Amino acid sequence: MFTNHILGLKCTICGEEYELSAVDYVCPKHGDDGILDVVYDYDSITSSVDREMLAQDPERSIWRYKPLLPVPLDAPVPPLRVGWTPLYPAPRLAERSGLNHVWIKDDGVNPTASFKDRASALAVVKAQEAGASVVTTASTGNAAAALAGLAASVGLPTVIFVPKTAPPAKIAQHLVYGARVLLVDGTYDDAFELTLKAAREFGWYNRNTAYNPYMTEGKKTAAYEICEQLDWVAPDRIFIPVGDGCIIGGIHKGLKDLLALGWIDTMPKLMGVQATGSAPLVTAWECDMQGWEMQPQPATSIADSIVAGLPRDRNKALAAVRETGGAYLAVSDQEILDAIPIVARNTGVFCEPAAAASYAGLVKAVDKGLVDKDERIVVLLTGSGLKDITSTMKTVPEPPIIAPTLDAVKSIFPNGFSH
Ligand SMILES: *Cc1c(COP(=O)(O)O)cnc(C)c1O
Ligand SMILES: [Zn+2]
Repeated sequence: MFTNHILGLKCTICGEEYELSAVDYVCPKHGDDGILDVVYDYDSITSSVDREMLAQDPERSIWRYKPLLPVPLDAPVPPLRVGWTPLYPAPRLAERSGLNHVWIKDDGVNPTASFKDRASALAVVKAQEAGASVVTTASTGNAAAALAGLAASVGLPTVIFVPKTAPPAKIAQHLVYGARVLLVDGTYDDAFELTLKAAREFGWYNRNTAYNPYMTEGKKTAAYEICEQLDWVAPDRIFIPVGDGCIIGGIHKGLKDLLALGWIDTMPKLMGVQATGSAPLVTAWECDMQGWEMQPQPATSIADSIVAGLPRDRNKALAAVRETGGAYLAVSDQEILDAIPIVARNTGVFCEPAAAASYAGLVKAVDKGLVDKDERIVVLLTGSGLKDITSTMKTVPEPPIIAPTLDAVKSIFPNGFSH
């Protein structure tokens, strides 16, 4: 199928360009590392859609941006509503850090409760376009939950590979949606390699992050939403939790699209936040390394969604921070845990550890003097807190168990209620 607003696919290593139909996933010259970027014909997009037309569009999902996505305008899309998630002002969070303008983008409200629905919705459309009978993915948990849910909505079978240590709530999601779940006795990186082999062997459509060039394209929709929700005045900085780097690469791509279309005037600085136990991009950024020079490293963190020893989208992830004048920051597991109740109590949004890392990153950036108090800042909250209750319970006090009597209540509040 042809989409006339797309020029082709460009290798992020050698720059070689390919016709859409010429390659399946990666640059043939660079094997599995040859991640491709979708190249758009912005003149053709400008002639078919503008900001005023968008403002009239009642569609409240990622599909309001269909003319900017790698799908035909008449492509059928899954029925679950993905995207157009709320961007809430967070004045109390701002005040804690002495800042004047902070917003949080709550992607936990997506159908399977994480940002990954944006990519998986696109994966389902592309798999159906390719006539696939099975879709597969490796995942730390959320990408697979998103794929399983979106695929269930159209009746497409899935096989998923997750580390056996994935949080039980995420595995419950995979199972309830009917996915064939294979718990890998190994790391996410092991699961990733295994999925590449299995997909080739069985001819399954492969959603693997970064390897599949369309996942970034689904993820870039969050950048469109942030800018549209801010009336096309781009924020100064966006804080993004980073594992494989597909989200930060996608946000960068979305912002580059908007600049090319003339819909925004400035490029926000992108702030990538990693966990200290899984921070290869922080090291690479500090040491001025290129993505293709990075080697696999052991990785561990309570924030399971951002544990990746060899970030699969490392080329795009490094470019996102370097080309925007942003920074990479590492936050400890304790800082991540501390951030969960702070975000919840000051905004009403309950997020999983990986998502809380992005707020912990903002706190760190303020401590380091990287942020001016008048900057307009967006913190991306990428997944719901219900995904990982075990971690959350480490961050809150245990409630008392009481007899069902008023006296018992009085003994708890001898002087009435106080904070
Ligand atoms: C996947 C994920 C991330 C990180 O995204 P990458 O593309 O791997 O960098 C962050 N937060 C949550 C909740 C995720 O599921
Ligand atoms: Zn190449």
